[in-house]
Amino acid sequence: MRKVMSNMNMNWMILALLAVTMTAVAQQSASAPQNPQPVAATQPEQTAAQTNLGPPTTMDQAVDRVIMREKELIKFLSLRTPIVETYLQNLIQDTQLGPIPQDDHYFLGRMDLSDSIDRADYLNNKGKGKDEGMERHLLGEFTKKFKFQYQPLGFSWMIFVDRNDFDRQHYDFHYARREFLGDVRCLVFDLTPKKDAGHGRFLGRIWVEDQNFNIVRLNGTYARPTRNNYYFHMDSWRLNLIPGYWVPSYIYSEEGGFTAGAKNKIAFKAQTRMWGYNLKATTANDELTNIRVDSVKDNTPSEQDATPLAAEREWQQQAEDNVIERLEKAGLVAPEGDVDKILQTVVNNLEITNNIELPRPVRTRVLTTSPLETFSVGNTIVVSRGLIDVLPDEGSLAMVLSHELAHIVLGHNLGSQYAFNDRMLFSDEATYQNLGFKHIPEEEVAADKKAIEMLKASPYAQKLDSAGLFIKALQARAPQLSALLQAHLGNNITENGIVTRMAQLGTSAPALDWNKLDQIAALPLGGRVKLNPWDDKVEIVKAQPVAITSARDKMPFEVTPFFPRLSRYSTASAPATTAAAPTTTATTANADASSTPTN
Ligand SMILES: [Zn+2]
Repeated sequence: MRKVMSNMNMNWMILALLAVTMTAVAQQSASAPQNPQPVAATQPEQTAAQTNLGPPTTMDQAVDRVIMREKELIKFLSLRTPIVETYLQNLIQDTQLGPIPQDDHYFLGRMDLSDSIDRADYLNNKGKGKDEGMERHLLGEFTKKFKFQYQPLGFSWMIFVDRNDFDRQHYDFHYARREFLGDVRCLVFDLTPKKDAGHGRFLGRIWVEDQNFNIVRLNGTYARPTRNNYYFHMDSWRLNLIPGYWVPSYIYSEEGGFTAGAKNKIAFKAQTRMWGYNLKATTANDELTNIRVDSVKDNTPSEQDATPLAAEREWQQQAEDNVIERLEKAGLVAPEGDVDKILQTVVNNLEITNNIELPRPVRTRVLTTSPLETFSVGNTIVVSRGLIDVLPDEGSLAMVLSHELAHIVLGHNLGSQYAFNDRMLFSDEATYQNLGFKHIPEEEVAADKKAIEMLKASPYAQKLDSAGLFIKALQARAPQLSALLQAHLGNNITENGIVTRMAQLGTSAPALDWNKLDQIAALPLGGRVKLNPWDDKVEIVKAQPVAITSARDKMPFEVTPFFPRLSRYSTASAPATTAAAPTTTATTANADASSTPTN
């Protein structure tokens, strides 16, 4: 609260007056129809997308503004096809650790936010019978596979309050109070569906920022389920990533009682993330245009042809660049940024201390998804966001990177078939069917052996205990986390519930002891890497660690609620949130917003 106080200015006093008036109106509204209550002229800060309407003077007008802004958001997003990822853990009660994962499920797809919600899945369903059944069950009735009408079915549903009927005819709005979420002052309303509003109406609370009356958070469930549907409880957050709009970003769902002895049929926690709002819808025609332009360009650095060896390296570089570009275009690899520099430093440390000289530099990139996986494309090492999240320290990060570096050093990544551009011509949803970077088991064994050699000659030699503890913690949870451990582009790090990747380090590590509070073998998901849902950039979270007070606080590999610190979009504050390339961030966001029809 102290931090928040310092941000207040004179406007605050005036707005406080407005809010007090609103409270008075809200209290009347339950019984009597409201009379407009004029208040002193106020001038909240204007933003780019604000319309010419003056500030609301009554609670009714404020509600009208909320409804209007929600409809504008729905319209604004109707042409977008963000990626949506849900990771779910079913829970079982452990006497010592509380609720722990029993099994898990993973869904990844692309949403079409036009008239109804369409969903195209990235994952092919072969061998995933349990997830298909699970999704069908949870989503309730839907007309065709992965397509469902806009009803409260599924985890990604609560991106809007009510896609079609968010209005006074269907809902009663009760003003509750004012509250800060992060730096953002909000009006809080409780929403109840009217008696005859029908099935599946939102029931819960919304937080509305008090300048433009955009909803920034929704928390609740849906009223009056039909017999075949579950309605989950959800907590849905939006971020102000572009001027004027708060973009749906995270949804936490939780169901069931977690206290010992609770007799719920289902008990789970799930995180849903949305990103890739700014991805272009790609078609084969776009791609062909690009290729034609490229071939016309004359960018030959020298007058001479490449030597055969130089040509071979150029060819490999081209294959590597094609793949990384394609993955970035599909929203699966984050644009180059700060996190890459951290990974790069660790790789450099390994290279220098092992006298590794490679003809082409080794680069690193972040896969935007949660499952724990790594792979390398030529000399580019790719590590998933989820894996970076759960690694406890630099030593364990070095372990992860050393395995991929070993593949590169041993020459396992020579496949250059992707230098042919036609092999990049597929829909984003088909990425996992068209690309794959798995190694044969013999290469996996060789890479592990070489990686341990390199680690032992590196500055990380003294930190291998923590890397080994991570392997042990992973082993303890692996049988329950098959979805989290299912790699989609690289090799699995476990086989049939047994950790195979770098397993040797686990055998020499100290004993795993959940009760030892200073032994942090693995972290919960989502605590380390922050993914920008608009432009897919990743950054390392700079939050102060919270002291662990019991074994239950450790939550290795587990799903937790979201609690993002909300702040308003501003070009001035952009450098604070993205230290690496502030100008680029601000410019890109502005350009996006100006090229997008807002109303
Ligand atoms: Zn490997």
